Amino acid sequence: MSTMRSPNPAMSSQFLSINLEQLTMTTNQSCVLLQQNRGLARISRPAVFLDRDGVVIDNCDTYVRHPSDVTFLPGVIDAVRKLSERRDVVIVTNQSVIGRGFVPAETILEIHQSIVDSLIAGGADITGSVICPHDPSSRCTCRKPEPGMLIAASQAWGCQLEGSWMVGDALTDIQAGAAVGCQTMLVRTGRGEYQEHATRLSHPECVVVPSLLVGVDRLLADPTNAKS
Ligand SMILES: [Mg+2]
Ligand SMILES: [Zn+2]
Repeated sequence: MSTMRSPNPAMSSQFLSINLEQLTMTTNQSCVLLQQNRGLARISRPAVFLDRDGVVIDNCDTYVRHPSDVTFLPGVIDAVRKLSERRDVVIVTNQSVIGRGFVPAETILEIHQSIVDSLIAGGADITGSVICPHDPSSRCTCRKPEPGMLIAASQAWGCQLEGSWMVGDALTDIQAGAAVGCQTMLVRTGRGEYQEHATRLSHPECVVVPSLLVGVDRLLADPTNAKS
């Protein structure tokens, strides 16, 4: 993988402005793609898709609206670094707080980029992020449980959906992954503890783990589909 990763704020802002432009230009059927690895060529291999809230950072029932709402779950920065040494990592997150009009898109994208910058500063290599900004009533095709964000990542960056993993703390994450043939993993952090029963019932193949930290070890114990 390229070592051209940069927490450089200027570069982050550039990506943000490009994607904000896309956001304002597109209809409610498009999600927002943020490519975080500048040196990325199309990867053409399976990836690991991570939900963000409840998996990487604390879930916030009233949405992550401010930088002070961001708390990384224990061990996560190290876990994502380890994971990204072996797999391509893409974050896929529903942020209907934008579409509901609660917080400007710029603010939410800046908060998101600061989360990614912290992961990168911790040594992780994040391929990119896909954000669904829509209100549920818009019936977009990207808001999980729809798989549109995974499809968008595969189209933009070449992630092969078959053989990829989707890791989330909600049944809707698992549904999105399963819909496009990903292997699925539920973490018991965030909403996971409360979603476990329904998830096990509808998706008995889903792997359930206490945290991303444990899940990453589990995933990396399987040598298939590692980065080449
Ligand atoms: Mg979540
Ligand atoms: Zn959407």
